Amino acid sequence: MVLAELGQRISSALVSLNAAPVVDEAVLDACLKEIATALLQADVNVRLVANLRNNVKKRVNMEALASGLNKQKVIEKAVFDELCSMLDGGDPKKTELRKGKTNIVMFVGLQGAGKTTTCTKYAYLWKKKGYKPCMVCADTFRAGAFDQLKQNATKAQIPFYGSYTETDPAIIAQQGVERFKKEGRDLIIVDTSGRHKQEEALFEEMRQVAAAVNPNHVIFVMDGSIGQAAFDQAKAFHESVDVGQVIITKLDGHAKGGGALSAVAATRSPITFIGTGEHMHEFEPFETQKFVGRLLGRGDWGSFIDKVKDVIPEEDQQQELLDKISKGEFTLRIMYEQFANIMKMGPMGQVMSMIPGMSNAIMPPGSEKESQARIKRYMTIMDSMTNKELDSSSTKMLGEQSRIMRWARGSGSSVQDVVLLLEEYKRLAKVFSTAMKGMKLPKGLKGDI
Ligand code: GDP
Repeated sequence: MVLAELGQRISSALVSLNAAPVVDEAVLDACLKEIATALLQADVNVRLVANLRNNVKKRVNMEALASGLNKQKVIEKAVFDELCSMLDGGDPKKTELRKGKTNIVMFVGLQGAGKTTTCTKYAYLWKKKGYKPCMVCADTFRAGAFDQLKQNATKAQIPFYGSYTETDPAIIAQQGVERFKKEGRDLIIVDTSGRHKQEEALFEEMRQVAAAVNPNHVIFVMDGSIGQAAFDQAKAFHESVDVGQVIITKLDGHAKGGGALSAVAATRSPITFIGTGEHMHEFEPFETQKFVGRLLGRGDWGSFIDKVKDVIPEEDQQQELLDKISKGEFTLRIMYEQFANIMKMGPMGQVMSMIPGMSNAIMPPGSEKESQARIKRYMTIMDSMTNKELDSSSTKMLGEQSRIMRWARGSGSSVQDVVLLLEEYKRLAKVFSTAMKGMKLPKGLKGDI
């Protein structure tokens, strides 16, 4: 079961509470059973699921519920909090880098988890934030490991260190760290091997590398799709080296994700980033509440609506827009209004990431400037459309050649730009309708979501 599906199942279990004439213990039990089954099928560790179920029950005081509080909200909140606390890896400060000092960060994880790719993404991210990262290849087990790291590092323009002849990874790691310390690099990333003839030998090697470089942080990289094995794997790594944080990769694919959640519990370390693709910029900081919110299908609607409220002062206007969005009607005018709001709202990535599925659709991360210019171009084209065109969602009508020519002439754009706009519209309409399906907005927007 992929994460989106898990979210849907949990959400529908919660919604079923609403349908019950009275929420009594039996209804709550049935709802929790459904949630527990969904979590288990998503590979969340059995013990964690049992804990979650018990804790929610403890927190939901049936007597208090009987006194007329919104039962669904109370239970929903308890489930939300429990999922968040399941993902709570302790003090996030412990994972921070120290500005102005040397930070040695060692990456561990099984081969294929995405370690080398993640080292590069991590280095690239901190480079953009002003650090001076570099990478050391301490994997002598896998032929080609150094070449791969070299290739990735070169692409990201990050200095690297490794050896084709030295066979002791601890020695290479130490030499690399020494070299880069001398060069004044403030973020030294050590990539380790992910495979050995025997598991114990791998762990022993990790301990030796750790002893040689004395890392400030050890990051466990885990493939988001590994399932139930995640708990034991994370535990074994944690027991060998002092894992302080987890990065989950491949959450873009068909990852079940539940295993990843279990890994946090096994290591009691926070997830700091997630990998969402093979490319360097497909890497996001992990925020527990946001993640659980999205998982439960309501994404960041609350904050999104707050932002919309800020930029559209007229209440009826805002209601109308939200009504339309919730019905899944996506016209060019809505797209125009969204673009206009987004331009007003500031950092677009931040806003778009609030709508599940939208961020990558409108603006791939790392390309804010280009996207803003593109959006401006599109808005100029839409300015030359008639009201009827803006309010139509008929792609057949919008695709008529004479209209395309008129819009291009009217806006001083190329026909190609107009066609691109229409393509963008079709794509967004699809993303929008998928993201909005099943999301109910409260009447009058007064309720909390
Ligand atoms: P390592 O053996 O742990 O160093 O793993 P690699 O960095 O070589 O990655 C193994 C494969 O996973 C490569 O094909 C990567 O491109 C791919 N990969 C890594 N991270 C991600 C991710 O977040 N999403 C996807 N789709 N692929 C990833």
